[in-house]
Amino acid sequence: MKATARARRVGIYVRISDDREGGGLGVQRQEDDCRLLAASLGWKVVELYIDNDVSASDRRKVRKDYRRMLADIESGHIDGVLAWHPDRLYRQPAELEDLIILIEANDVEIRTKMAGELDLSTPTGRLHARMLGAIAKYEVEHKQERILRKVQELVEAGTIHNGGHRPFGYERIYEGTGPRRKVIEDRIDETEAKYIRDWAKRALEGETLYSLVADTNGKGIKTSTGGAWSYQGMRYMLMSGRIAGLKEHKRQIVGKAVWPGIISEEDHQALRALLSDRAEQAKANGAQRTSTAQKYPLSGLVRCTCAEDHIRMKTSPSSNRKGPVYRCPPKGDGGCGGRTIKIADLERLLEKALFHKLEEVEPLDESDPGDPRPALEEKLEKWERRVGELKEELLDGDRPAREIQEAIDTLNSRIAKAQREAAEYSVKTRVLEVSAEELREEWEDYLPARKQGVYRSLIREILIHPATRPFNRWNPDRVEVFWK
Ligand SMILES: [Zn+2]
Repeated sequence: MKATARARRVGIYVRISDDREGGGLGVQRQEDDCRLLAASLGWKVVELYIDNDVSASDRRKVRKDYRRMLADIESGHIDGVLAWHPDRLYRQPAELEDLIILIEANDVEIRTKMAGELDLSTPTGRLHARMLGAIAKYEVEHKQERILRKVQELVEAGTIHNGGHRPFGYERIYEGTGPRRKVIEDRIDETEAKYIRDWAKRALEGETLYSLVADTNGKGIKTSTGGAWSYQGMRYMLMSGRIAGLKEHKRQIVGKAVWPGIISEEDHQALRALLSDRAEQAKANGAQRTSTAQKYPLSGLVRCTCAEDHIRMKTSPSSNRKGPVYRCPPKGDGGCGGRTIKIADLERLLEKALFHKLEEVEPLDESDPGDPRPALEEKLEKWERRVGELKEELLDGDRPAREIQEAIDTLNSRIAKAQREAAEYSVKTRVLEVSAEELREEWEDYLPARKQGVYRSLIREILIHPATRPFNRWNPDRVEVFWK
């Protein structure tokens, strides 16, 4: 170590990078380590240089603070540099050569926490520094190549991406330990898989994702990373091909995966169609997810006969002595303003009607003539083939691209609509498959949102006729139920 008359005035250079060498070292940790090093050397830190150089391999990116540091060395503002590792300081040979030129002309010392002194004033030191740089560069290039090859391999094999966290519902079996461990297999985790099947079932019955998420978080069920569930997280998982044992590439199903499915492919198709549709609905009437609507399962179905188009009655939970009621909107909003019906009475009546309905329907057999799905399948096949042809035409370039694109868009929206219709029918048959007895037993434990799902899949609307005398006596004849 050179003897110095005065304390060196030095700069700390830190770089943000996404590479995992050095344990994905954060900027703060790099700085802290360098400050400790400065203290142990008796150096005085006068500058901090920070570059956000996430991709070390991108040559076009100019490291602004690196340039500033070189200028400060040249001007004599600093005469020492501290970095966590040489690979934080320079990744491209050209950057090191710039540094070497400056070091030769100025009395500057460079220290790194991990590789000690970087002596650029001697040929041996420079060789050492160049080797360190070359190794870092090799690692960057090699890593990219390795990652690309691996991703391609995994996508082709339908196997698992080594990165990313454990998918919910699966137990991940690794070979080795630490960050370089390899995923060998995803096995079904029965506890979590049971939750997934329950959520899928409820979503298919029409329960909203908001309700599922609230219930799940309320029960303290955590995601695979130990966090709370979000709407997006729940939606993403339920729509994913993964839980049906299907591999996806860019959100398209490309075939069977090597891991086992937790739900059936049929349920996956239905969930996909339903949840994508619901997302649109939620966007359209985002304001309607009120807590009162969630509290009363018949909300949205109850309508007053005062107007031609049967205006929707709203919940008035804070109403008078009778307890919460559904009330027709005021005259200014197109209703009669007066008609009400007690929610408790209506719910009791509808429960009875529902159980009765379930007892009277014959279980649907395979050849239900009202099943729209075979016809829809046929159309879907035709439209999908046509989309394929149009895409070919797009490549030929004989017709204006915009014209073809419009045709493709029209077909795609028809396809989405048909998929939705098929899914809605599946939901209805699913509810009907539950026996009345089974539903009666479980009904008490259903959340309002889940009850709402069941009602909505079977009922088109519930009409409320004018009140009859005596007004304080419950008259079930005021209620008319239209089943789907
Ligand atoms: Zn009315």
